Amino acid sequence: MGLIVQKYGGSSVADAEGMKRVAARIVAAKKDGNQVVVVVSAMGDTTDELIDLANAVTPIPGGRELDMLLTAGERISMALLAMAISNLGHEARSFTGSQAGVITDSAHGRARIIDVTPGRIQEALADGAIAIVAGFQGISQDTKDITTLGRGGSDTTAVALAAALDADVCEIYTDVDGVFSSDPRVVPAARKLKTVTYEEMLELAAAGAKVLHLRCVEYARRYNLPIHVRSSFSPNEGTWVVENHPEGGNMEQAIISGIAHDKSEAKITIVGVPDRTGIAARIFQAIADADINIDMIVQNVSAAATGLTDISFTVPKAEGANATAILKRIQGEVGFASIQYDDSIGKLSLVGAGMRSHPGVTATFFAAMAEAGLNIEMISTSEIRISIICRESDLEKGVRAAHTAFGLDADQVEAVVYGGTGR
Ligand code: ADP
Ligand code: ASP
Ligand code: MG
Repeated sequence: MGLIVQKYGGSSVADAEGMKRVAARIVAAKKDGNQVVVVVSAMGDTTDELIDLANAVTPIPGGRELDMLLTAGERISMALLAMAISNLGHEARSFTGSQAGVITDSAHGRARIIDVTPGRIQEALADGAIAIVAGFQGISQDTKDITTLGRGGSDTTAVALAAALDADVCEIYTDVDGVFSSDPRVVPAARKLKTVTYEEMLELAAAGAKVLHLRCVEYARRYNLPIHVRSSFSPNEGTWVVENHPEGGNMEQAIISGIAHDKSEAKITIVGVPDRTGIAARIFQAIADADINIDMIVQNVSAAATGLTDISFTVPKAEGANATAILKRIQGEVGFASIQYDDSIGKLSLVGAGMRSHPGVTATFFAAMAEAGLNIEMISTSEIRISIICRESDLEKGVRAAHTAFGLDADQVEAVVYGGTGR
């Protein structure tokens, strides 16, 4: 007998029919002789709708109350799913994140899991019941307030519980058949990957491939827990996220395993910055003090005549207004000329462990972008990733061009999007 943790995303439980379909699948896993713990997301686009509602009553909703509001979405799902399972003749008990022992820090909207104490889940399993846990939420160790783990965080709840319960596998059920070489909503010719390594998946998730939450991959890697990403709408085998590709695995020959894109960032350019020791430190300290995450940074060589340079960097769009306000505050002290803010950018990233041993990836990539008529505005690299910033309106065209240029297009269309609105 095994212990399985299954996570069902919002599109899988979007309506009553979805709940019943998922319930049948859970009962089947139980009937196979497994102990089953299920993590569930809010139905369909509920989380987005709750955020819209919060924004309709106040321009800046407070973190504590927003978390209280958003966690309600997952509570609706867990109770309905438990009822649907019970209707099939099996006992199911639902638990909030706090009841399931998900203990976090107190950073509302992006809390980190500190500890998982799943005593009540173990009790339910020992009684032969199926345990249903509300995803994406926990309770702060210090303040005892309800917290959320950030958008897409139910994946992390599932992996954290799987690690704490020493589960055999964590299955992430979503609206596509697994992890593809690119987002199937953008690249119809995307290929399903049989396996992807933690390292590659971390880069893909960080670069915007939202099929898995970044922290869930970090967690799985730390505990060496295999993740199986698959569709709740089909019986197909999905993608295994593992430490290493197996011998002869699908990625042996490929240089690039995936292409990710991200529309959630904005670019800030500080124009006419004095090119002196300590200036960059002053600027980025001010941004760091406000807890704003910076992604790419580019600084040009200063013009010889003026000794001035420009610095550009990217931040999440949601932090854009805050970041520019902070810069304006230090403008006099630092002595730069002006600030430009641009939120019509997109980020395109190539990821692949094969990059380490293959020169010429950048040249092929940039040639494909030139041919697609796309202008590259910023570039950053890691050992197994190359990212560029371009116009947001050029982004999807660029993803498809890169996918073709690296020979990733499938001969026959295998990417099916079963549900979801892609919101
Ligand atoms: P869920 O609600 O099940 O958590 P998400 O919307 O968070 O689902 O994640 C699934 C979506 O991720 C897919 O519908 C797809 O559009 C998107 N996606 C982005 N990149 C990829 C990729 N490389 N492989 C598969 N799906 C991807
Ligand atoms: N419902 C939350 C969200 O939409 C968490 C999740 O689905 O993983 O972000
Ligand atoms: Mg998700």
